[in-house]
Amino acid sequence: MTGLYDRLGRHIHYLRVAVTDRCNFRCQYCMPPEGVEWLEHTDILRYEELVRLIKAFAGLGVDKVRITGGEPLVRKGLLPFLRQVTRIPGIKEVGLTTNGSLLEEYALSLKQAGVGRINVSLDTLQRERFIRMTGQDRLDRVLAGIKKAHQAALTPVKINMVVMKGVNSDEIADMAAFALQNDYQVRFIEYMPFSTGQDYLFTAAEMKQQLVAAGFTKLVPQLGVSCPAKIYHVPESRGSIGFITPVSQHFCSSCNRIRLTPDGYLKPCLLSNEEYSLRERLRSGASDQQLLAQIKQVVWNKPQQQYFLKGQKGDRGMSRIGG
Ligand code: SAM
Ligand code: SF4
Repeated sequence: MTGLYDRLGRHIHYLRVAVTDRCNFRCQYCMPPEGVEWLEHTDILRYEELVRLIKAFAGLGVDKVRITGGEPLVRKGLLPFLRQVTRIPGIKEVGLTTNGSLLEEYALSLKQAGVGRINVSLDTLQRERFIRMTGQDRLDRVLAGIKKAHQAALTPVKINMVVMKGVNSDEIADMAAFALQNDYQVRFIEYMPFSTGQDYLFTAAEMKQQLVAAGFTKLVPQLGVSCPAKIYHVPESRGSIGFITPVSQHFCSSCNRIRLTPDGYLKPCLLSNEEYSLRERLRSGASDQQLLAQIKQVVWNKPQQQYFLKGQKGDRGMSRIGG
């Protein structure tokens, strides 16, 4: 059997790389209200270290990479780095997840660098609410960035909306209409209680009820696609609607991903506190063979299921993991 597998037979071929913990937003579900202490610059992996690691993963069978953060577009030198990543033999798809605030300026260059797909986080279409949720008055910038990404053929543009009960849960139909009118794919994500408790959970079942009540009754499930989002098409639109249910219906048994944190820890599961430093190995002169052996061992022991199921909480905020 070629490729990377864990002890439960899951095929791991998708690497999410957080290139920074820095961000120009302060989303209330991602960063604690008191703010976060940034990682030391010297602790963050340099681009050449990232490229070496991604090559190692590609050599083991990883074919899909997503660049995330913090906000990846705030890290200097990202485009030349992306040009290197998209040329690594074996890497078939490179995507990027962004808050969209700098996307208008970067969309075309991202396309030219070989990035195939863009996910943009957008939790509300209301300006005042946007300011409350992100700490920034940049809704217009994000909307302009999304439009530009669509024009640059970074399609389908995917919009990630984290739904928080009583905060933006009344906007599901508006966001669906916005996506469908513009041929975007909106993915409604269940809020994950990293630090603020369970109070904001609004389940996908509740979201669907809202959509049906608003007249979205013709949701046709997309079959045969392996991703955590359950996608539905709507007749007469090229846009689509998806639901990501890490809390109400976890997808651990089909998980195909691993994560690299900005400070070089390999996290075999987003929602587990297990992490292993590859940076230490890299910086203490490990050979490629030694790196490969460590990666294989971490993947082999990937946790069976996430900690919400065990009633535990996370040690790292999302901005330091990469979402
Ligand atoms: N800054 C970029 C962005 O916002 O898209 C990339 C990093 S962000 C940590 C990646 C994804 O994690 C975003 O789509 C964000 O909405 C999601 N996220 C962060 N905290 C979350 C939470 N508590 N529950 C669900 N999704 C969360
Ligand atoms: Fe920044 Fe993204 Fe976290 Fe919002 S979700 S604070 S944009 S890293």
